[in-house]
Amino acid sequence: MNNIPFFDYPHVFKKHENDFMRIIADVASRGAFIMQKDLREFESNLAKYTGAKYAVGVANATDGLQLACMAGGIEAGDEVIISSHTMVATASAIHFAGGVPIPVEAGEDLLIDPDAIEAAITEKTRAIMPTQLNGRTCDMDKITKIADKHGLKLFEDAAQALGSKFKGQSAGTFGVASAISFYPAKTLGCLGDGGAVLTNDPDVHKQLLLLRDHGRDETTGDVECWGFNTRLDNIQAAILNHLLPQYEEIIGRRRHIAALYNELLADVTEVILPPKPESGSAHFDIFQNYEIRAENRDQLKQYLKEQGIGTLIQWSGKAIHQFTKLGFKTELPKTTKLFQEILLLPLNLSITDEEVVVVAEAIKSFYKS
Ligand SMILES: *Cc1c(COP(=O)(O)O)cnc(C)c1O
Repeated sequence: MNNIPFFDYPHVFKKHENDFMRIIADVASRGAFIMQKDLREFESNLAKYTGAKYAVGVANATDGLQLACMAGGIEAGDEVIISSHTMVATASAIHFAGGVPIPVEAGEDLLIDPDAIEAAITEKTRAIMPTQLNGRTCDMDKITKIADKHGLKLFEDAAQALGSKFKGQSAGTFGVASAISFYPAKTLGCLGDGGAVLTNDPDVHKQLLLLRDHGRDETTGDVECWGFNTRLDNIQAAILNHLLPQYEEIIGRRRHIAALYNELLADVTEVILPPKPESGSAHFDIFQNYEIRAENRDQLKQYLKEQGIGTLIQWSGKAIHQFTKLGFKTELPKTTKLFQEILLLPLNLSITDEEVVVVAEAIKSFYKS
């Protein structure tokens, strides 16, 4: 029996145990828990890595997206167009910023469909917030053009996309502001919740610093506006700062696994695979997830489970427009159909090449039987 979990949470710690314990002891013995130099250093390194002018550490990407909306000028009743194939967090962040999330169809590539964006624009539309899903950046030429044509602001849910690029430009740097997640299962994960907001705009940056810390000005301590407490813990920042220099290697490993899946599953006609990582492509994908579309998806998932192989249906199997309890009423038949087919295969830093072969063989044997 195989034991190939979808994600091995304890593995993250085991792999770095000595370094992590040293860092935690160092930070804790300095008493440097909140808003200390480790946070500043990480913010500076993260900004450098992404090419954004500013990075602001926050408690998680969901809060980060909300702060991005608030600092970026989303006001009560503003409609913000999002993909229906995203986490509920994209929508809730807009909601709590006072905006109205408008989910639209995802395309064949699983990312937001640019034609669907244009079709959803109304007088109340204020912004577009594409999700750079699975570590792949959308065609930002198309989306930027739509935003410019209609005078809309652009935000990005880049929670899954640190280091992903479109035409050499990093996810999270195309619009007013974006958020990245350091949730443990994300490509750059910390030991709990964590996130960051990226922006190139000095005024938005200033506002983000206020909003994350009770509206307080860092130097004077004076309260400038209503704010929140959503800071990135200094211990988490120190851990992330330690991992960031290894991140290129992490991406390389993820792209290697993805390429292997693509090669091994190329002839399986019952599945549609994500585009394989290629050096000349406009898209530099970091494979937060390896999401396939599969015939008889539920039976395949069950079969793999019986073989000791963990898979995941993203967002527990529902697109945003299917959360009717949140008031969504739109019918999005293409995305609804997608959600009967999508499945994430295990792609993480603990899986070996041999295990990838085992997963691919199991998928093949399912469709042969
Ligand atoms: C993980 C994720 C989020 C939320 O990130 P948190 O740090 O857990 O708040 C938002 N959007 C997408 C697309 C995600 O994958």
